[in-house]
Amino acid sequence: MTGDEKNWLLEQRAQRCVGHLAKHRFDADYLPTTAEVMDKVKPLLAAATTVGFGGSDTIRSMGIHTLAEEMGKELYDHHRSDLTYEETLAMRKRQQGCDLFFTSANAISETGEIINVDGIGNRTSAMGFGPGRVVVVAGYNKIAPDLHAALRRIREVAGPMRAKSLGVETPCAVTGVCTDCNSPMRICNITTILHRKPMLTEVTVLIVGEELGY
Ligand code: SF4
Repeated sequence: MTGDEKNWLLEQRAQRCVGHLAKHRFDADYLPTTAEVMDKVKPLLAAATTVGFGGSDTIRSMGIHTLAEEMGKELYDHHRSDLTYEETLAMRKRQQGCDLFFTSANAISETGEIINVDGIGNRTSAMGFGPGRVVVVAGYNKIAPDLHAALRRIREVAGPMRAKSLGVETPCAVTGVCTDCNSPMRICNITTILHRKPMLTEVTVLIVGEELGY
């Protein structure tokens, strides 16, 4: 398979996913590059005063935090290294009522559902209700054929890789295999599925034609 054919196939899959997300009332779009994502989020940032961030390598790697800061926005980012425990807790709570909340997804089904797991719950809670708008940015690698495959992707890929990146003491961070553990550091205590757009929350979903995050 040549690069062109591979890109064509990935785009077809991403476009099918976007079509199903749109049927589910999400404001969904396919953008080939992260540069186009940045162009798309600029006006959303301009209209916001407060901007919250769920823990996401995808969002951080794109530079959205930096752009928001440069635009003079008030950032609710609990990953800042200068924060005390109490301050990180306050950030997580403020995310629930921010104007604009950025996150990625652990998996998105081609059939149009958005699936996430969380250890604490600030990210999964904010995705359903609270912020004025939620923006989900996900690389094409997050797309799974259906809901069942999406949940499996989280157990087999996203969970172990995220646990490893966070350096938490869980079985999957050592062996790469999920054991449905009882670790106090378990990163998947809560699972949420956005089957359709939540009634009182605007949700923009941007599927990117690049491999991003886990
Ligand atoms: S349940 Fe435990 S072992 Fe499985 S992915 Fe989550 S943290 Fe890792």
